[in-house]
Amino acid sequence: MGKLLIGNLKMNILSSYERDRYFSDFNLEMKKYDFPGSSLVLCPPSLHIEAFRNNFGETLSVGAQNVFWEDKGSYTGEISPKMLKNFGVEYVIVGHSERRKFLGENGRIINAKVTASLKANLKPVLCIGETRQEKDANQIVKVLTLQIREALHGVSKLRAGSIIIAYEPIWSVGTDKIPSSNEIMEAKVIIRKIIFSMFDRNIAESIPVIYGGSVSSFTAKQVCVDSAMDGALVGRESLIPKEFLKIAGVIGC
Ligand code: PEP
Repeated sequence: MGKLLIGNLKMNILSSYERDRYFSDFNLEMKKYDFPGSSLVLCPPSLHIEAFRNNFGETLSVGAQNVFWEDKGSYTGEISPKMLKNFGVEYVIVGHSERRKFLGENGRIINAKVTASLKANLKPVLCIGETRQEKDANQIVKVLTLQIREALHGVSKLRAGSIIIAYEPIWSVGTDKIPSSNEIMEAKVIIRKIIFSMFDRNIAESIPVIYGGSVSSFTAKQVCVDSAMDGALVGRESLIPKEFLKIAGVIGC
């Protein structure tokens, strides 16, 4: 199976003018490559989801950066899993460290979002990872165990196979600091063990575990290829189509 590359465009692309420029750059760059549509995912701000779907068609998948846990109703400002599904979204990022930090998302909220996304046949990209302090205090196992156990509480074996785990050390997101390949490989083993303890060997071995945190075309080999990760979650570099697709080439999408 090829690697999975997910771009998190965050709160960028501020106008339809910027969006059109992004599309023309991306479309032009894409002509140089022949990646299967299933290996590339872009997660734009929700305002742009429909335009991304229309521009990219089958050439790549579209994901959302957030989701609510109810299907519809009086939830001002929220977007439901069903809405996302009906607008052609396949993936949704859940538990990103920026939402944990700025929006106060905790394990209970993340669990509700994961559960609702799975029910709507969306693939949740569950972000987990330790702070620098937690790493220095040798608490990675404890932190990852808690985050995964909380987020996947009550998820059935039947649905668990649709989850993607993104290991994103918080100290690496947006900082240009990256772990060694060995450190990432160790985290992957820890993650697979936790999933095994909650579900079964088949699920533990089959769900994609991807790396996120300062991935660029220069770091991609170390953090994704040498560490044997199943793909990458990319923030800043996904805003530059040429770089994003270069990363796809390096990791082997
Ligand atoms: C992210 O926010 O998920 C991320 C990985 O960001 P960056 O690539 O900019 O570190």
